[in-house]
Amino acid sequence: MEKNNKPDSLFEKIESEENLEQNELIRLLSLTDQRDLTRLYRLADQVRQKYVGEEIHLRGLIEFSNYCRKNCNYCGIRRDNRKITRYRMTMEEIYTAVREAASVGFRTVVLQSGEDLFYTGEFFAELLHRIKTEADVAVTLSVGERTRQEYQQMFQAGADRYLLRFETSNHVLFKELHPDSNYRERMNALTWLEEVGFQVGSGVMIGLPGQTIADLAADILKFKDLALDMIGVGPFISHRDTPLADLPSGTVEMTYKVIAVTRIVTKDTHIPATTALGSLGPVDGRLKAMKLGANVVMPNVTPAKYRALYELYPDKICLQEETAYYRDGLTGWLAALGRPVASGYGHGKKGKGRHRDG
Ligand code: SAH
Ligand code: SF4
Repeated sequence: MEKNNKPDSLFEKIESEENLEQNELIRLLSLTDQRDLTRLYRLADQVRQKYVGEEIHLRGLIEFSNYCRKNCNYCGIRRDNRKITRYRMTMEEIYTAVREAASVGFRTVVLQSGEDLFYTGEFFAELLHRIKTEADVAVTLSVGERTRQEYQQMFQAGADRYLLRFETSNHVLFKELHPDSNYRERMNALTWLEEVGFQVGSGVMIGLPGQTIADLAADILKFKDLALDMIGVGPFISHRDTPLADLPSGTVEMTYKVIAVTRIVTKDTHIPATTALGSLGPVDGRLKAMKLGANVVMPNVTPAKYRALYELYPDKICLQEETAYYRDGLTGWLAALGRPVASGYGHGKKGKGRHRDG
């Protein structure tokens, strides 16, 4: 930012909670002066405090299958990657992992996988029924694009939330990155999820090859448009066994900026400090994200023997820790921040879906 083009008026607009336009978001995302960034981050932190409070929500992530029918160009578990060992957890194994997460205090589990049609709507219905009758946890599913009927089945069986990123709002870029998905279908899926009754999470990657700052500003406006309950943004991390192997990854700094501006624009959403950010950045990358807008962390509670095989991107953190240890370690780590770990389920604040937190 030029010295004679100070962003003060923008900061004042944020303070008075005025709507920001795309060109203003672009200016914020283009800030480089350390003092300006400090000010932006402080404002985002204030919005976080005002709209979602001090509590940090922990979601235990269970990566139950790395089979995928799709070939997203960025992803390490894409169908055509023959170099990885594929695994599928059984219903019993998934259920045991859920019980273990619940027993150490997680109030939400996130069940994520590649797009693996081995797991049918019936499978999820049976699993959900079992979880919901025997464990006291909210359940988030993140299993990609499915039919409206399957989403309905999952919701009726008790799933509370669904995560499906739209990855980028730039249609051309979306098409380049997804040989077997299309933007309109992705958006339809998000609409179905909302209609069916889920609390819906979405998000994008930052630093995708060819992505511009204007694209990121448009992504943030799209988040607002979609009235999402959760927004996950993390850096793109280049994986050696994908078509994007030789391209640079996204940056930690741009990820911080997108988190901060997303918080300022969307106000009351849940925003995780993502594992991808923690993996790319310094060890305290996720702690820093908590101070500039984030309020959720998703520790990995996948059984240790499978964890390394779920390699969406390289050098994923938390490959070693056991569930209980990690939960305890993380609680201490968050205590250092001076923020309490939430004891409720951490439902969306918008009052959609089946429930709201009391
Ligand atoms: N198959 C499901 C869920 C697993 S992928 C789906 O696609 O929705 C979950 C997320 O991981 C994706 O939405 C994508 O944003 C992210 N991801 C995949 N490959 C990545 C990479 N190389 N770097 C950073 N994030 C990646
Ligand atoms: Fe499959 Fe999801 Fe990876 Fe795409 S991002 S290849 S759908 S696991």
